[in-house]
Amino acid sequence: MSHNYKKSLGQNFIYDTNFLNSILDEINLNSDSTVVEIGAGMGTLTQCLASRFKRVVSFEIDKDLVPPLTTLKQKYPNLEVIFKDILKVNILDLEKNLDNKPYFIIANLPYYITSPIIFKFLFDSTSLKQMFVMVQKEVGDRFCASVSSKDYGASSVILNTFASCKVVRVVKKQVFTPMPKVDSCIVKIDLDKSKFGCDKSYVDFVYKCFQMKRKTLINNLIKSGFDKQKTLEILDKLNLKQTTRPEELNVEHFVSLYQILHKN
Ligand code: SAM
Repeated sequence: MSHNYKKSLGQNFIYDTNFLNSILDEINLNSDSTVVEIGAGMGTLTQCLASRFKRVVSFEIDKDLVPPLTTLKQKYPNLEVIFKDILKVNILDLEKNLDNKPYFIIANLPYYITSPIIFKFLFDSTSLKQMFVMVQKEVGDRFCASVSSKDYGASSVILNTFASCKVVRVVKKQVFTPMPKVDSCIVKIDLDKSKFGCDKSYVDFVYKCFQMKRKTLINNLIKSGFDKQKTLEILDKLNLKQTTRPEELNVEHFVSLYQILHKN
């Protein structure tokens, strides 16, 4: 079937099943697993997943893809395709549909909403174990960056507060149809929400700290309305210098800073 690729929906498809199977071999999940896919596209990865795993639930927003995905669904009774915008899906309802059992996400994500999708599952899920997601290489590098490195920023801090992240494979842009401008990578995200008990306002706080990366942390916080004197006292309590820049703080620093500032 020919398809009119929609750039606005991040449609860069992968048709090479050998390549997809080699990734799934590497991921090496138990065949008993339940897998959620976001963005089925023409269903090439969907088919590889459905032929390997006990249960696959796949989301797709583009109704033009109903015919190929319906054909696929008829072939695989363990596959459910849901034509919905993933950002409008209630994750707790989805998990109820999965009997609240542990599940995995494997997806070649639509790049225009990579972070919103990942953050949504990070916050709302209760039974998601791991994600293996294809993202733009530079986004993956930012997710997995360590303190003080050039890629370290708000998304590195947020993700590593609630999970641990690793780039497991770099994927050349030539693998995709149509070919995007940049290379991609697969990121493995292990959820560990027990690490800290922060809520969504933590995300806003971290973005505020990084709003001007070259400025000092204290200047960013003052610009966001925090009281200078009080903030300086807290930095001192945490053994952080007045000249500290946001990229010098590790996850534990951000959590402590957030907790103390939001208590006052
Ligand atoms: N899995 C396919 C593959 O690897 O060839 C397609 C991947 S393509 C990068 C991303 C897919 O996500 C597209 O099919 C696109 O239509 C779909 N998509 C975009 N926005 C979406 C949304 N908000 N909810 C669900 N699917 C979406």
